[in-house]
Amino acid sequence: MLQQLDHLPTGFMMASARDLHRVLPAPSLIHLPGDEPRPLFVSILLHGNEDVGLRALQSVLASRGTRHLPRALSIFVGNVDAARAGVRRLDGQPDFNRIWSTAPPATPHEHMAAAVVEIMKQRAPFAALDLHNNSGRNPLYSCLPGTAPQHQRLARLFSPLALLIESQPSLGSAFAPICPSISCECGEIGSAQGVFRAAALIDKCLRAAPSLFEDGEGDGEGGPLEIYQAFAVLKVAEALSLSCDGTEADVGLSPEIESLNFRDLPAGHPIASVRAALPVEPLQAFGLDGARIAGLFEQAGAQLLLAQPAIAAMLTRDLRAIRQDCLGYLMRRVPHPVC
Ligand SMILES: [Zn+2]
Repeated sequence: MLQQLDHLPTGFMMASARDLHRVLPAPSLIHLPGDEPRPLFVSILLHGNEDVGLRALQSVLASRGTRHLPRALSIFVGNVDAARAGVRRLDGQPDFNRIWSTAPPATPHEHMAAAVVEIMKQRAPFAALDLHNNSGRNPLYSCLPGTAPQHQRLARLFSPLALLIESQPSLGSAFAPICPSISCECGEIGSAQGVFRAAALIDKCLRAAPSLFEDGEGDGEGGPLEIYQAFAVLKVAEALSLSCDGTEADVGLSPEIESLNFRDLPAGHPIASVRAALPVEPLQAFGLDGARIAGLFEQAGAQLLLAQPAIAAMLTRDLRAIRQDCLGYLMRRVPHPVC
């Protein structure tokens, strides 16, 4: 399933995400040489419609022209089939950011993911960046696989906001034991600012001194990192109808729901309107371990309200994303960041 290359294939620099399958017909790991041998690892298109990583890489590589890279670069190109269709993943495919389990691989996709990690481990990467877009309106932020200072230092190069996600089989967490590792949430698909900031981060990592992430290096650059931790993932009960545009449905989300992202919401804040006497709980909250969490919402008439203060993130009004993944997350501040 995985192909490896030691050069950029012809056509890579000009291809859109939808056309990339003509250049790379399968998930690919591309190793480009550079002056510093420890490579920067960049993962793009784990979600097929999120093209920020491709655009950012094209921009960085174009700006260097034919000059040698200051550091080796290994690029993992993920779900080219979904990219061709312009979707996060095809029906019947796994989510490419959930195949990076530390358990022994079982499926073909998990074997591919394990091979990528093993190959990169041999190359002792300098840092790992996994580039994503959001399906909702959010500020740019990183996802941290842990609070180790090296991950925080890498995150601070991208944004003052970070979300701690420790217990998912994501690419970011698979690389965390190997090198500084973050996932970058680069705003909505098509966001020019997202592409610009992702490209700036790649460029910074390519040019960085080998000691950048070591203790005492670069501390405090740009102020402290503000770290949040998601404690609940929100799902809409599958059996219920759902709308985001004010049309009649069992569960009605406000068209403005994305404006709640990264805001402090008090207890009692409305999250959705719901029909009376629904057969199941309309909005279900799960811990990141998958266990149900009860009592996060309370119903008041036709309104579903937050039962406790929380900060929302990644709330989206994209119905397909809600059905395939989730409505969004609730999070709390992590009180004592390490650095
Ligand atoms: Zn994504």
